[in-house]
Amino acid sequence: MTKYIFVTGGVLSSLGKGITAASVGTLLKHAGKNVGMLKIDPYINVDPGTMSPLEHGEVFVTKDGAETDLDIGNYERFLDQSFLKTSNFTTGQVYSSVIERERAGGYLGQTIQVVPHIVGEIVNRIKEAGKDHDILLVELGGTVGDIEGLPFMEAIRQMKHDDEVSGTFFIHVTLIPYIKAAGELKSKPTQHSVQELRRIGITPQMIIARSENALPKTFKKKLAMSCDVSSESVVEALDAATIYDVPMSFLRQNILKPIAQKLDLGEIEPDMQEWDTLVKKIVQPKGRVVIGFVGKYLALKESYKSLTEALIHAGAHLDSRVEICWVDAEEVEERGAQALLSDCDGILVAGGFGSRGVEGKIQAIEYARVNKVPYLGICLGMQLTLVEYARNVLGLKDANSIEFDENTPDPMVYLIDNFLDQSGGMQLRTHQSPMGGTLRLGEYPCDTKEGSILREAYKGEKTIFERHRHRYEANPAYRQQLEDAGMIVTGESNGLIETVEIQGHPWFLGVQFHPEFTSRLQTPNPSIVAFVNASLNAE
Ligand code: GLN
Repeated sequence: MTKYIFVTGGVLSSLGKGITAASVGTLLKHAGKNVGMLKIDPYINVDPGTMSPLEHGEVFVTKDGAETDLDIGNYERFLDQSFLKTSNFTTGQVYSSVIERERAGGYLGQTIQVVPHIVGEIVNRIKEAGKDHDILLVELGGTVGDIEGLPFMEAIRQMKHDDEVSGTFFIHVTLIPYIKAAGELKSKPTQHSVQELRRIGITPQMIIARSENALPKTFKKKLAMSCDVSSESVVEALDAATIYDVPMSFLRQNILKPIAQKLDLGEIEPDMQEWDTLVKKIVQPKGRVVIGFVGKYLALKESYKSLTEALIHAGAHLDSRVEICWVDAEEVEERGAQALLSDCDGILVAGGFGSRGVEGKIQAIEYARVNKVPYLGICLGMQLTLVEYARNVLGLKDANSIEFDENTPDPMVYLIDNFLDQSGGMQLRTHQSPMGGTLRLGEYPCDTKEGSILREAYKGEKTIFERHRHRYEANPAYRQQLEDAGMIVTGESNGLIETVEIQGHPWFLGVQFHPEFTSRLQTPNPSIVAFVNASLNAE
């Protein structure tokens, strides 16, 4: 039977609940436990796939093709394991399934209500995610006191008494503000949010206190007393030099002791040696490399979360600090690539949707190609390498992706109207297809070409597996023409063009997949490591 650790948030959002949950999970995993992770989002969208990255940050894609909250990415990066669809659900999903069941006659004769039906569905989904794990960590999105969070609070409260649950532990993450004028740390907001939790019937057993200043012993005692937990169950979370130091900081405070006691886990001693070495390389690396990151969602860097983390992982393994030089694609259009990219050791064009900034990205690609600067293009950043090559090398002046010009005479990137989806079924895609959940999503195999940069990056692997999130595909009608002119297809997936390289360029790789989704601190993504390495060694 599974044990459950629930992580709630108090006072305000953005306290790093996801990192907290991932850090506790990491410690338990390194102590030999089989740990599952679940993020619950109280919004009504079925998934974040249709939200703007500027609104919600990155949409993370799981191996089995779910578009999920970016915290699932944190879980994978920390725990070094893949989580599936079941690791994230939203209010929208809960209501959809209850309503669908009601329409199908699943509740004949009954009045469907929040309690017990919605709450029951939530409990079932949590248990489903917990199946086959020793411990499931459940992170509840939002803040205690939010109206939309109530059914979830009720569900986790009820689980304390569930016969199929072998133990529960409640962690509350809060903020301890420091009032400069008074020179004091304040515990009142935390007390209030704990009171709010208690009113719902949940007594937290641990307080994780986010604070800019260290908490003096006396303050910790006072906080413990007023929140009704033991002193050792008050854990401070100061701003860390890197998020990957958070598990180490928790470990130094003996965080597992009260958890193990309450959940009857026995003696647990996580082995964090390898992890600690990597953290040290992030904080104090030997080398340094500057990557020009060309994108358009720069107002919210969380939009590129997995990619910026993947660069950190690569840096840790190459013992180098990867400095990101943020380049706004629209600014490239105004000022030119040379002005913005000449100081960069490598150039990265990230994925994206919609036409804003596309011409600037094409200029950045041309700059990298002509000046032989190491280049990695991801998804849209790969599709546009074809457009750039067609326009500037093949002389097809109006070449484009049909995403940006439906009537282009040379659609280098097009919409295939049917393809085999992950389960081998035929999926039909047209311009009229609904927007939600109709992208090519999740993990697909890619066969690598002998002698390619790609094959070398993946240490000679003939078939690699990477994740996707896109609607359009490279058009094979132009393959021969491109290859004759030096742009070679080096990766293929069931007949689809997955990667391209340029003959005679020291390191140029466009990948249709998103390598950043499989990068973890302990096992960084091979193509990203190879790119950073090429940039490090570039003249
Ligand atoms: N907009 C492009 C497509 O849908 C690329 C998507 C991406 O970069 N993730 O195919």
